Amino acid sequence: MVASHDQNFIDGRWIRPASVERIQVVCPSTEEIIGEVPAAGQSDVDRAVGAARAAFAHGDWRNFSHDERSTVLERAFRILDAGVDDLAQLVTAQMGLPITAAARQVPDSLARGRWFVEQAGALPRSEIRQGRVVAAVVREPVGVVAAIAPWNSPFNSILMKSVPALAAGCSIVYKPAPESPLDAFHVTEALRQAGVPDGVFNLVTGGRETGQTLVAHPEVDKVSFTGSTAAGREIGAVCGRNFTRVQLELGGKSAAIVLEDADLNVTIPQLVIGGFANSGQICSALTRILIPTHRYREVADALVAETAKLHVGNPFDPATTTGPLVSRRQRDIVEGFIASGLSEGAKLLAGGGRPRDQERGWFVQPTIFGSADNSMRICREEIFGPVVALVPYHTLEEAIAIANDSDYGLHGAVFTQDPVAALHVAQSVQTGTFSVNAFAYNTEAPFGGVKASGIGRDTGREGVEAYFELKTINLDPGTHSLLA
Ligand code: NAD
Repeated sequence: MVASHDQNFIDGRWIRPASVERIQVVCPSTEEIIGEVPAAGQSDVDRAVGAARAAFAHGDWRNFSHDERSTVLERAFRILDAGVDDLAQLVTAQMGLPITAAARQVPDSLARGRWFVEQAGALPRSEIRQGRVVAAVVREPVGVVAAIAPWNSPFNSILMKSVPALAAGCSIVYKPAPESPLDAFHVTEALRQAGVPDGVFNLVTGGRETGQTLVAHPEVDKVSFTGSTAAGREIGAVCGRNFTRVQLELGGKSAAIVLEDADLNVTIPQLVIGGFANSGQICSALTRILIPTHRYREVADALVAETAKLHVGNPFDPATTTGPLVSRRQRDIVEGFIASGLSEGAKLLAGGGRPRDQERGWFVQPTIFGSADNSMRICREEIFGPVVALVPYHTLEEAIAIANDSDYGLHGAVFTQDPVAALHVAQSVQTGTFSVNAFAYNTEAPFGGVKASGIGRDTGREGVEAYFELKTINLDPGTHSLLA
């Protein structure tokens, strides 16, 4: 075992939860148990939310100046800076992201955290509006935040959810995914050592039930959830009943539209990254590739050839580009989709099975289905694995209609040398995010989806604003003079 924890962090202390249930963390490339964490129960969640509520009511952190909060958070970042190599190893061990990618992701996430703190500092806390009466529009921290994360980008998730909330002055109860909870213990310890006041940041570990208990808690003011659409639908309903503010970052089935004039030297490498990075376990993955019939054979052949260059294997080997799937369950799901693609008549152009040279680990070969139809399950449902479907189209308007014929609306991309056509497509596809000639992700801009891909935005200035509540204070001459 590399990392076992029998405690959660509640009210400024590492404590053993009342629940005796435990969750084992299994390394997806070796299938060995590498850690164990508690599965927090109702009384543990109550305690964590109660601590967060008391800290918010007491006001130490929320009444700190931005500079004071920023100083504490910078101390935590520096503690984490010192451990980036170990953190990258931990990310790879928990969920199989190749080490070269994890080694980039960890410092990138820290840089992004620092940027979120700056953004929170730059937001005006109060603005005067002239009307029938003069009003101050005040931004206040939203309160107690329950933040729940998926397993596919664990270190990024904890920073992306916790730092904006903390920088806004909120209190948090954070629950990582049961598959990849280990790095959250390091972030929590860094926040403790940095001097975040008791109760302001709480860590509870556990699975779905722990998450459900947290979401339904009446003392939670806002839920920030990233995960599957199925869970998001359930969480949205609970939050709707309780009037809990909710932000849902959910699944996707994003289309890449290759236009007639696309430069394949640019397009193909981006399609390979967009479909197979993190073994396809990326919400914004480009999994439907729409290709004009004239160029279908050329694009399909080039994509198959480029995909063959991927090196699937031990994620700790720096030469590996493609690691395993996170769990046996996830591999079963992905293999079920591959079987459905075959039975519905799509043509297998690459992959489709497990790599022969891997004796252990939940690996699936990068898989390309050709001649797919948008009505097939592989085109309609999120697979969350290394499987893409090529869909031929005749006209641009047909391609846009296919891209929009989806329950999801998270991301999409267009590949063309014509900037006018690129913008036309970008503006016609109904998604929250779109990329031109790239599989891109810009954390200085808002990220999120429409339709079944969610509600609200993470990242960007808007992702920080999401942790504030607006209050209007209609002023009289006395109060106005205080704010003017
Ligand atoms: P999941 O929904 O099964 O679990 C996500 C988290 O929610 C976990 O911590 C889990 O324990 C918890 N959970 C599950 N059901 C819950 C419920 N009913 N109430 C409260 N908590 C609950 O998702 P996953 O399999 O861990 O992650 C993969 C999914 O996440 C994919 O659908 C992917 O697209 C999505 N995702 C979306 C984004 C985005 O920004 N849009 C980013 C990453 C991943």
